[in-house]
Amino acid sequence: MTLEFKLRNQTEAGGRRAQLVLPHQTVETPVFMPVGTAGTVKAVPQDVLETLGAQIILGNTYHLYLRPGHEAIRRMGGLHRFISWPRAMLTDSGGFQVFSLSALRKVSDEGVRFRSHLDGSSHFFTPEHSMDVQIALGADIAMAFDECTEYPAERGRAEESLRLTMAWARRSLDHFRAHREEVVWHEELGGKTQSLFGIVQGGMYGDLRRESAERLVEMDFDGYAIGGLSVGEPREATLEMISEVLPLLPKDKPRYVMGVGYPDEIEQYARMGVDMMDCVLPTRAARHGLLFTSEGRLNIKGKKFAEDQGPPDPECNCMVCRRYTRAYLRHLMHSGEALSGTLNSIHNLAYYLEIMQRVRASLEPAPEVPSQAGSA
Ligand SMILES: [Zn+2]
Repeated sequence: MTLEFKLRNQTEAGGRRAQLVLPHQTVETPVFMPVGTAGTVKAVPQDVLETLGAQIILGNTYHLYLRPGHEAIRRMGGLHRFISWPRAMLTDSGGFQVFSLSALRKVSDEGVRFRSHLDGSSHFFTPEHSMDVQIALGADIAMAFDECTEYPAERGRAEESLRLTMAWARRSLDHFRAHREEVVWHEELGGKTQSLFGIVQGGMYGDLRRESAERLVEMDFDGYAIGGLSVGEPREATLEMISEVLPLLPKDKPRYVMGVGYPDEIEQYARMGVDMMDCVLPTRAARHGLLFTSEGRLNIKGKKFAEDQGPPDPECNCMVCRRYTRAYLRHLMHSGEALSGTLNSIHNLAYYLEIMQRVRASLEPAPEVPSQAGSA
């Protein structure tokens, strides 16, 4: 078994309420996935993530490959055990960070040579190598190695990038299928294996996006992601690309839009039929003092909060809003205290997870009404 996708309900607008059964966790979807770049959702301990209701978190292949190294993590029982996270995990392919963080990249059909952003050492990533690293890390879901097309990109450049991504998807899948049983928890979990998702690219060209989706569906991945969005394009373009792709994806497999977005965006996309999303925004913004609240965005650094005794968000019931004041969060931020990032991040994640909780509730199938009441 790789994964099971149990569709419970679908609305006319496309929104889906489902369960994604993964080796380490049955994930209720639509779901927001906090990003745990280097084996940690920055500043937030794992037990707190559990309390907040996080069902699945991301690990970052590029970062973990460089430090502490995927072989070290495999020797320690895989990523779940290493970071003490019993619920589901997903690793990205490393492609996005290779293209955004590393220096002196050289892309060929074979793969990408790059220099580490940590120490300048030289590395070569191929689709096969990305699969080997992700199998060693052992997340529930791995991602095909792709090239994230930059924005803006000329048509010729987007076509060439897509050609590469499609060839790499094929190689990722072949290598993954040949080695998926090597994951460290394979026997312990009764023969379960990881799943592999393909990634739709194509820049901001609808026809390229459709071609990409159709070709990936032919290859028959366990799930499908839409990548290369939230890279600086206007929001209408993001929406248009998602709308182009969703109808082409199989109904009985999970759909994941990578790297989005603002609170209203994740709600909107979930209602269109996106099952999974991830974004660094809630935690990154938190570390800069930006809180997402029911009253809009709140910059906690503001002088007007200096003696504000109210909770960060009066509508929020998270452990931060129940206990601390805006004045205190402002003070922590101004003093450069480590607790600042932690408390701000916990609230923002709670806010994002609560949105998805609400969306899931609204997508539940209508309760069955007994045809005859009171006949007992
Ligand atoms: Zn809160």
